[in-house]
Amino acid sequence: MLKYFKERSDTMLLPNAKEERKRTKEKVLKEFYDNPSFKEIGKGKKYFVKTYGCQMNEHDSENIKAMLEELSFKEVDDYEKADLVILNTCSIRENAHNKAFGMLGRLKHLKEQKKNLLIGFCGCMAQEEKVVDEIIHKYKYVDFVFGTHNLHRLPFVLKERLDSKKQEIEVLSEEGCIIEGIPVKRANKYKAYVNIMYGCDKFCTYCIVPFTRGKQRSRDKDDIINEVKMLVQDGYQEVTLLGQNVNAYGKDFTDKEYRMENLLEDVAKTGIPRVRFMTSHPWDFTDNMIEMIKKYPNIMPYVHLPLQSGSNRILKLMGRRYTKEEYIELFDKLKTIPNVCISTDIIVGFPGETEEDFNETLSVCEYCKYDNAYTFIFSPREGTAASKMEDNLTIEEKEQRLYKLNELVNKYFLESNKRYLNKTVKVLVDGPSDKENMFTGYTEENKLINFYGDKSDIGKIIDVAVEDAKTWSLDGRKCTK
Ligand code: SAM
Ligand code: SF4
Repeated sequence: MLKYFKERSDTMLLPNAKEERKRTKEKVLKEFYDNPSFKEIGKGKKYFVKTYGCQMNEHDSENIKAMLEELSFKEVDDYEKADLVILNTCSIRENAHNKAFGMLGRLKHLKEQKKNLLIGFCGCMAQEEKVVDEIIHKYKYVDFVFGTHNLHRLPFVLKERLDSKKQEIEVLSEEGCIIEGIPVKRANKYKAYVNIMYGCDKFCTYCIVPFTRGKQRSRDKDDIINEVKMLVQDGYQEVTLLGQNVNAYGKDFTDKEYRMENLLEDVAKTGIPRVRFMTSHPWDFTDNMIEMIKKYPNIMPYVHLPLQSGSNRILKLMGRRYTKEEYIELFDKLKTIPNVCISTDIIVGFPGETEEDFNETLSVCEYCKYDNAYTFIFSPREGTAASKMEDNLTIEEKEQRLYKLNELVNKYFLESNKRYLNKTVKVLVDGPSDKENMFTGYTEENKLINFYGDKSDIGKIIDVAVEDAKTWSLDGRKCTK
């Protein structure tokens, strides 16, 4: 494992999809290693980090920013003012790819005017062979690339680029260690993301995550609990436990039987006012987890439970490991949690999806009446099994299905929000709303609410009376006693 800590790499380290598919047994915990002699690198210089994709990327960017600040860089909110721009990319769907390449185009123009501008590229796209190959041959102005497994190496990669004056690529195909103690610059003073695991071993046939994020590695429970305890001390009101499949937390431990239900309980016992977790693959959701959510009022009654498809034939092709019936059985159990809200992810236009398959998805949505749903058109990702399956639908047909699905799920979002009309909800206040004179925050059930209140309530949990319900949000007024 020495390669993670060597200070110079004389050859490029490139991603390799075949290697990324492999699952090794090795798991070593190491501490973040910093080199004090790097402290001056960013003196007088400004940085901008652009983040694409999910909460895990957002949290990685919090680490990236903190590492840059340890090197004395200062953050700016406009990339045109920066001396260093890092793109933290996402590869889950084609449009995320296109956005990152579009931004690289804009950065090329900027670099023509600002010769000393440094451009860094990281995140899931950096783990893709084809992307890195393109960067080497077509985007020579990108200064350095590092992958998801060696995020902590950013200071070294940057130093290497400055010393060698050559494009520096350091992407590992093997995940290796969990690195503890990487500094973090949290975006929010009251709500924090806490990684509980990395990677995924599910290999759903459409999904690139097991390649870009590596095998499942659960963080040690004590590291997680200590992080949450520190957040409590710092006045944080909410933690979101993050992972691609948090319900599988602990399944990779060989030395102990400690699972997600145990972690939920221990995190709840820290006394943090709100605990959330995401994302949950239905396969690993246990009855004990449901009991924990019921037992601890500070575990929020909100579950994101991706369905993906309501057709058993398509679920099988997707490699999802559950049937529509098993999903509904779990859904019904979750509905026994008082006041629970359930959201989902759905993919339309998976290869071979017939009108009948699609109608089955609609019928599950009619049954579940989700409180929220993220809907996507299937996007073939190179290297995944589904990208090789015959895709018989036109883009128009896929768009029509998406439109029809959205019409249905939106109807239920509005119904769900209307349930709160004239009720009082508990809101963690985020800050001023885009709506004039209003504030914004989230209810326990993860409903977005805009309301008339006070600046002094930012970061607090307060009672708000709901006065109006829209498809995407609620409107209300702070309760006065
Ligand atoms: N781990 C979660 C699970 O098991 O459902 C999903 C995490 S994934 C980052 C977020 C969502 O992106 C998925 O639930 C899926 O709906 C969507 N997604 C993933 N790959 C996709 C693809 N190739 N095309 C379209 N949507 C995709
Ligand atoms: Fe992707 Fe989620 Fe399936 Fe893992 S469980 S492969 S992250 S969709």
